[in-house]
Order: sequence, then structure tokens, then C-alpha cells
Amino acid sequence: MDDVMIVEEPSPEVRSLDVQGLAYAYPDGTQALFGVDLAIGRGERVALLGPNGAGKTTLVLHLNGILHGGMGEVRVGGLAVDPKDKKALREIRRRVGIVFQDPDDQLFMPTVREDVAFGPANLGLRGAELDRRVRDALARVGMLDVADRPPQHLSFGQRRRVAVATVLAMEPEILVLDEPSSNLDPASRRELAEILRSLDVTVLMVTHDLPYAAELCPRSVILSGGVVTADRPTRDLLLDAGLLAAHRLELPFGFDPAAAVR
Ligand code: ADP
Repeated sequence: MDDVMIVEEPSPEVRSLDVQGLAYAYPDGTQALFGVDLAIGRGERVALLGPNGAGKTTLVLHLNGILHGGMGEVRVGGLAVDPKDKKALREIRRRVGIVFQDPDDQLFMPTVREDVAFGPANLGLRGAELDRRVRDALARVGMLDVADRPPQHLSFGQRRRVAVATVLAMEPEILVLDEPSSNLDPASRRELAEILRSLDVTVLMVTHDLPYAAELCPRSVILSGGVVTADRPTRDLLLDAGLLAAHRLELPFGFDPAAAVR
């Protein structure tokens, strides 16, 4: 436990995420972000939409300091992402739980239980507290009964749920999901939606699946050309055909956002 940073729990009014003036160019000179501002309150679920090349991945990789060195500031639960401060960065990586699109990038241990224990064990947790974290996280995604199985024996949808559990076990401030509905059959898609809705955690969901955004996220943000070009209630945004077309966002044939969004 020696290396665990003792940070005061942020107060409830602190934002889960606060991005201000974030600008970034890759080493080859490609400018991907031109000054992004994005604040997300505790417990909000926000969809991050935008065409390919908009800068969504670049933004996500800044949230836990994988990318850095540009302009602006990112704060998670009030704590600044500062790649030079290794202890703070460790805490940031606990606070920002990124679920990547391919669960196999995240699952590499012999059993589901060991995969979910990996992160909290790295934080120094052991024994009963570690077991509790693992059990809680698996229960929240409905995967407790597969705890002793190898992840590669599970279906893709189950592996994605276990990937979500690996991140929940860190008790993150914000859960960041990259295309959570991709490659899921309709039943798995619905099950994951139910799970995400049941979680008491701030969510930022990167997606091209507009019905999924409508179902899960009251608020949506469009990132386009490296800036935030819209930030509105999802229903309003999806009803604005001109805005969607301008950013290459398309609703599936027959989908009516007015009917779908409660
Ligand atoms: P999105 O996730 O919205 O599709 P990205 O963040 O991947 O967008 O890309 C934003 C811009 O940065 C694009 O112009 C893309 O070509 C560029 N880009 C992404 N990764 C790199 C990289 N490693 N080196 C140079 N340019 C990159």
C-alpha cells in the first residue's frame, strides 16, 4: 500500500471531468485537437459523437495522460492530469476507467477473477478487500458465475462485460467506453445497456451508434475537426437533421429519436 497516493475524495459538487482549452498536435505535425472544452458532472452519462478523424480517440487518450504535451488542462474529480507527477498520474489512471473497443486488449490473465483483480492488486489491495472489489465488480456486470473461467472461453459480449468489470474494480471517477455496442448481438447489446444504466458512475461513451446514445445518454457532445461543435440534450441533437448531416452522423433507417428518447 506504500505507493498508493492518499488523495482526499473530491466533494460531490466537483466535476468528474473538466477539460479546458485542450489542443494537441501529433509529433508528425497533425493537429488533432484545437481547443476542446468539456465539463461533465458527477453521475452524468454523456455520448461523445463525431465523424472519423474528429479527434475523439485523441481526446480520450488525454483523459488519463497517455497523450500529453499540448495546451490546456484536464482535471478528473478536481485532480489535474500531470504526466510529470507520477503519483498523481497513478491516481488519475485509477479514476479514469477506459474500456477499449476490443475486450481482448484488456483481458490477459488465466481467469476472469484474476483479470478483474489485476488493477486493484496493483494498487496494493490484498485479501478480503481485494476479494470484495472483484466480487462487487463482477456482480455489477452479471458475471460472477464465470469468475473462475478463462476469459477466452466466454462470448464476445461476456468478454466486454468482464472488461467493464476490470475497470469498475478500480472504483473509477469516470467510465470511458469506446464503442461499447460494437460487435454485440441484439441481446448482448440490450444486456450491456441495462448494466450501464444500472451503474452509479459517470460515463463518457464514444459511439457512432446513435440509438445507443439516445437510449443511454441524456446529453451528447459532437466533436468535429478537433473542437466541440454541439453540446445538447441527446434528443434535441438527434432531431436536428442539418446538424447530424453536417457532421456525417446518420440515424439508422426507420429510427425515430422523438419516439425513442424518454
Ligand atoms: P477519431 O477517434 O474521432 O476518429 P482521432 O483522434 O483518431 O479521431 O484522429 C484525429 C486526427 O488525428 C486525425 O486527423 C487523425 O488522422 C490524426 N491522428 C490520429 N492518430 C495519429 C498519430 N498517431 N499520428 C498522427 N496523426 C494522428
